[in-house]
Amino acid sequence: MANAHARSGMTMLEGVHFNFDDAAQRLGLDPAIQTLLKIPYRQVQVEVPIYRDNGQLEVYRGYRVQHDGARGPYKGGIRYHPEANMEEVQALASIMTWKTALVNLPFGGAKGGVTCNPRELSQAELERLTRTFTQRIDLIIGVYNDIPAPDMNTNAQTMAWMMDEYERRHGYSPGIVTGKPIDLGGSKCREQATGQGVAICSREAMKRLGETLEGKTVVVQGFGNVGSNTARFHAKSGAKVIAVSDVEGGILNPGGFDVDALIAWKNDRKPLADYPGAKRITNDELLAMSCDILIPCALGHVIHEGNASSVNAKMIVEGANAPLIPTVDKGLKERGILVVPDVLANAGGVTVSYFEWAQNVQQHAWTEAQIEAELESIMCEAFGNVYNRAAGSDLTLRQSAYMIGIERVARARQLRGI
Ligand code: GLU
Repeated sequence: MANAHARSGMTMLEGVHFNFDDAAQRLGLDPAIQTLLKIPYRQVQVEVPIYRDNGQLEVYRGYRVQHDGARGPYKGGIRYHPEANMEEVQALASIMTWKTALVNLPFGGAKGGVTCNPRELSQAELERLTRTFTQRIDLIIGVYNDIPAPDMNTNAQTMAWMMDEYERRHGYSPGIVTGKPIDLGGSKCREQATGQGVAICSREAMKRLGETLEGKTVVVQGFGNVGSNTARFHAKSGAKVIAVSDVEGGILNPGGFDVDALIAWKNDRKPLADYPGAKRITNDELLAMSCDILIPCALGHVIHEGNASSVNAKMIVEGANAPLIPTVDKGLKERGILVVPDVLANAGGVTVSYFEWAQNVQQHAWTEAQIEAELESIMCEAFGNVYNRAAGSDLTLRQSAYMIGIERVARARQLRGI
């Protein structure tokens, strides 16, 4: 599988730096502050040795990058992926800093990862990998220091193992991770929160164009936690999900899929491509489908200079982190395609992570209604701020979002003193 650079000619970190430099220059930030905000505060690489089920010793590499903590404890997910590497994790940690600031959470930005292919690992191997990784980063994480969460190929079970491993040394600490199972102090609505936030952004973007989601055609790339919930919430709002895909390829149904049936199919561990009654398409064909809203929810840099001109959507909403390389933004804007950037579109996940952490430290569970209402209000406020700053200017929503995030972090940094 090609990495982000091989797909697009640009690494994820180059992409994030491109966005950062552009916004920092527009803001006229002091060059020294720019350097301070660009370089991560701390990055740790660890070896993660585990015995495979066959008795063989295997040594993996793990990473945790704490990008900026001026606004609060470091916060961000852990991904298990063959492409995960220190540079990619740095890029993703930086995205978390601007994301948490943009939605105004009292957190900084972090990210972690282990270079591995989780599809080749058994549950028992994944548990050993997670526990060993947690031991190795134990020194730098903490309920008020750095709080991991799920990301690509990790889930509530991964967080349960992380919490249990951490608690062996530190005692009861449910706030050490978010995205936990509800039985272990996880929050209601966390599982679906990223997809729900993506759908709120699509709805708000349509509203600004004087339209609703009713009857709109939606194409979703990726059918993991984010993609499947994104499809579900769009369908719930009356949109027609006409194409979806996973790593093995995509399927098309111009009449719109029954998304709950697709999710049930996927939960039975069946490939989407075998779903009955649908036309098979490739991931490349999916990205070029004619539709109202294209929502990439899989890997980074899937839309690049080589395929951006074939995008045939009215709007792109970034469910994944960095699915577009930043240099295609201008051309898409000129073609009238609105791009809702990752730091806004997928911020619902970390927002409900914050609610989970707050419930853990308060020792008080919130109701579903409270969580839904607060998620709605935070996402709408952030969307409005980003949209209004860009309105009437030549800024893209990404430039506007980065400017708001960077401005807030720079202010916090300066108020603290360097
Ligand atoms: N991994 C998610 C993200 O990229 C969630 C992070 C969190 O909840 O801390 O935003």
